[in-house]
Amino acid sequence: MTEEVYKIAENLVIASKRAYNRGIQTGSGGNVSARIPGTETMLVKASGGSLGDCTPEGFLITDFDGNLIEGQGKPTREALLHGYIYRLRSDIHAVVHVHSPYAIGWSSSKKDLPLVTWHARLKNPADYPTLDVHGAMVRPEDIPMVEEMFRKTPDISAFLLADHGVVAMGKDPLSAEHVAELVEETAQVAILNKLVERLGL
Ligand SMILES: [Zn+2]
Repeated sequence: MTEEVYKIAENLVIASKRAYNRGIQTGSGGNVSARIPGTETMLVKASGGSLGDCTPEGFLITDFDGNLIEGQGKPTREALLHGYIYRLRSDIHAVVHVHSPYAIGWSSSKKDLPLVTWHARLKNPADYPTLDVHGAMVRPEDIPMVEEMFRKTPDISAFLLADHGVVAMGKDPLSAEHVAELVEETAQVAILNKLVERLGL
């Protein structure tokens, strides 16, 4: 790992620990990645570890199909989706994927998550899409659905995977993590708004 790549891995660790400490990811779920500038490769979290105790050395270098190039361990099974995002969006340099509860709760409706707060509206051009992927990971056959979403909303900062979690994107690891936090906050408010409506307050 070059010094430049190690620095990116350190930033992934900062973002991962923040996600864990904020409670938007528990246990060994979720994963993070970052593009290695000027290459068709990325740094990804090895499968099985927790975001809460990852280290820069624990990150792997893979190609955009998730094939291991450097490092010890197995790449996350969601590497394919991460690589696909880097191929399609040259403005995206990091992806944070978490299983945050309110976002997953909302996603079970299979509806897009509306931008119910001014802050969410300031940061996004359209509601967060929800993709109804049938499985615990995005498989090659699901990629057309992702492609279609980017065609409809090319500047979107995050999307939901139904009954699964959030995929947040940014120019660097910490920005992507902040996006994931905002999605969770937005989902929490959206659900509370429904409750307020139901209670007739
Ligand atoms: Zn996941």
